[in-house]
Amino acid sequence: MTSLRCIECGAHARVLSGEVSCARCGGLLDPVLDLRRLARTRAATWRALAARRAVGIDEVDRSGVWAFREWVLPELSAKDIVTLGEGRTPLSRGPALAPRVGCWIKQCGQQPTGSFKDLGMTVLVSAARAMARRRRVDALVCASTGDTSAALAAYGARGGLPVVVLLPRGKVSPAQLLQPLAHGARVVELDGDFDACMRVVRALGERPGIVLANSKNPLRLLGQATVAYEIARDLGWRAPDVVVVPSGNLGNVAALYAGFSLLRALKLVDRLPRLVAAQVAAADPLHRARASGYARLEPVRAGETLATAIRIGDPVSFPRARRALIESRGTTTSADEGAVQEAMAALDAHGLLSCPQTGAAFAGARALAAAGEIGAKETVVVVATASGLKFTEAKAAIVRQRPLRAAASLPAVLEALALDGAP
Ligand SMILES: *Cc1c(COP(=O)(O)O)cnc(C)c1O
Ligand SMILES: [Zn+2]
Repeated sequence: MTSLRCIECGAHARVLSGEVSCARCGGLLDPVLDLRRLARTRAATWRALAARRAVGIDEVDRSGVWAFREWVLPELSAKDIVTLGEGRTPLSRGPALAPRVGCWIKQCGQQPTGSFKDLGMTVLVSAARAMARRRRVDALVCASTGDTSAALAAYGARGGLPVVVLLPRGKVSPAQLLQPLAHGARVVELDGDFDACMRVVRALGERPGIVLANSKNPLRLLGQATVAYEIARDLGWRAPDVVVVPSGNLGNVAALYAGFSLLRALKLVDRLPRLVAAQVAAADPLHRARASGYARLEPVRAGETLATAIRIGDPVSFPRARRALIESRGTTTSADEGAVQEAMAALDAHGLLSCPQTGAAFAGARALAAAGEIGAKETVVVVATASGLKFTEAKAAIVRQRPLRAAASLPAVLEALALDGAP
């Protein structure tokens, strides 16, 4: 039913083959669901099924990913599913993008390991369990800017599969370094940036018994596409006009495109939202490629940025992202560090503790609204990709408020607060 198809030459592979690139030409593989079969079910039936599972008590139904299992990996048997209760994240009102231009924030950071990476990893690790019954699986490996490794380690631990992660030394937050260690993964810090880790892990992934868990692996996209399903459902089965997503390796923007495309094919929404890949000036190779209509991507050497999770100069999923942006009539943005900081402060002041990547996306959305590329009547969703709690060190540098100090007595506290002492 589900298969993998080469984005370059169209060659097919089996979905549980473990392949992450085309055996014929080396191109990226895309997951392809059996649309003919899925389209036999009417839109109203899908809506009713989703509504029923949203209040279900079965552990698999309660996962925001596996509640949509017919659209994720229908051939997987329930006993292989490794879930930590991922998905089901809130769609909250965000601060205004411009006068009279509102937005929604899809809170994908409210997850078991604190980022949206859990959505893809529940699928990858579940599939790896199914594969492990038929062939040798020695380890699941990834290169990471910090969130992929946390998610892989957690799901690997739950699924009983060994995990190896490669991290750029000094380029992930203390929380992100602690997470895979706490879950018992083997962590190797490399002297190099994420792009260097990615080159090593690609070669490592060629070895027998190794499953590559980066978003190059098409299985991840199947889970991450559920963000589109949740957004559409929570808007009353409507597509928003614009979805803005912080983008580094470009797997997530491709997953959102796949998700909304499926919904349109199943007649659950009537159009695609314009997808916006939001980058930071320190690492914006996709944004630079826009001028040429994304004809080709010139890798850049990523500079320093608060948004370390998207500090990527040579994104693996560029061919997928190109198609997503062209087909959805989307665009790109590039925020400088000052704009990222201001955007984080605006989200924080709204009660939505922001990670720097989400700051980059919100800044990008604001820039588009200021330029008139997002209109007042449009429904805009900004995807928050991680919890601000993973990035407290980066945030501490920009939060200007400092605690007051006082002796432990009421008069001292009133004095510190400059309130007068009258009751
Ligand atoms: C991984 C990640 C991204 C970027 O996603 P890509 O699929 O690599 O483009 C953005 N924000 C956070 C917090 C991430 O962990
Ligand atoms: Zn091919």
